[in-house]
Amino acid sequence: MAKVFIIAEQRDGRLKKATLELVSYSSTQGNETHVILLGDNVAGLAGELGQYGAKVVHLAQAPELKLYSAEATSRVVTEVVRAHAADIVLASHTPTGRDFMPRVAGRLGVGLASDCTQLTFQGTDLQVRRPVYAGKALAEVEFVGPGPRLATVRANSLGAPKPEPGRTAEVVNLTLNLSGLKTRVLEVAQGNTGRPDVTEASIVVSGGRSLKNAENFKMLEEVADVLGAAVGASRAAVDAGYRPHRDQVGQTGKVVSPTLYVACGISGAIQHLAGMRTSKVIVAINSDPEAPIFQVADYGIVGDLFQVVPALAQEFKKVKEH
Ligand SMILES: Cc1cc2nc3c(=O)[nH]c(=O)nc-3n(C[C@H](O)[C@H](O)[C@H](O)COP(=O)(O)OP(=O)(O)OC[C@H]3O[C@@H](n4cnc5c(N)ncnc54)[C@H](O)[C@@H]3O)c2cc1C
Repeated sequence: MAKVFIIAEQRDGRLKKATLELVSYSSTQGNETHVILLGDNVAGLAGELGQYGAKVVHLAQAPELKLYSAEATSRVVTEVVRAHAADIVLASHTPTGRDFMPRVAGRLGVGLASDCTQLTFQGTDLQVRRPVYAGKALAEVEFVGPGPRLATVRANSLGAPKPEPGRTAEVVNLTLNLSGLKTRVLEVAQGNTGRPDVTEASIVVSGGRSLKNAENFKMLEEVADVLGAAVGASRAAVDAGYRPHRDQVGQTGKVVSPTLYVACGISGAIQHLAGMRTSKVIVAINSDPEAPIFQVADYGIVGDLFQVVPALAQEFKKVKEH
């Protein structure tokens, strides 16, 4: 049994699903699961973490932690995992996890396996699987040298988190010394779309250059609304100004692993596949039967998306209504 420390991600007082996935998975694998929860006035989230399997929640609360800062987060996390001799430290492979975990690894002088899609716990040790070469191959990674073992994990890779109502966690209030921080985050400006983020959603409906303009993406939004999905885009669509960069899926965008990925008029370039090929089910709609996207698709529709997508939206609505 390993002593696993998971760094929780929360925004505006809500825990990210990816955090609950990690906590639930670690706990069901029989580990002593600790969570480090950073923020200001976030004590109320400890109960939820307990329900998902956290044994102990280490609560780091301070005004300096209200808005995420890589410097403050990596400092607190390093101190806690050192003090408790953690065997394994896990974070989600989100922009936040990708930002602070290398700093934690640097401070501890240990390695970090990033963007893992499978974790195998062996006593107090860890072995991971991670996609390489833009997802064309999978590498099995073992850690060498002294621990702790550090990994970031792709969201939606470990299965749906399962709460156990009635389960609770011990809460430890940390005494923090945050003096001497060199940076201070004043404001986080976020685009408010009211839609789930592509990295978090169970369903992603993405569009490519073939949508022709931003207005036509409304067609995908309509399908997404029926399915409760996020809307993604290829880089060509983002470069053309049809969607903001936060929606870009791929090597230079976000990596997603939803239950269902619907690619509408996306050719399936290797850089796009790098961001979505681990999706559980892939549906491709493309007018070119030779488009590379069909090589990774579970279901393919050869046709004009301007006819297929509205027809799908109508059918989905009917199914939902009944
Ligand atoms: C370093 C680097 C990083 C990159 N990073 C990324 C990345 O993160 N994400 C990413 O997506 N790309 C990335 N790219 C770009 C990538 O190589 C492709 O250029 C891009 O993915 C193509 O986008 P697309 O499929 O929308 O456009 P296109 O390649 O132009 O494909 C359009 C597709 O739509 C189909 N089509 C056209 N009209 C219709 C219609 N009416 N109905 C149905 N289908 C239709 C066509 O048959 C075609 O397959 C990167 C490239 C480089 C060099």
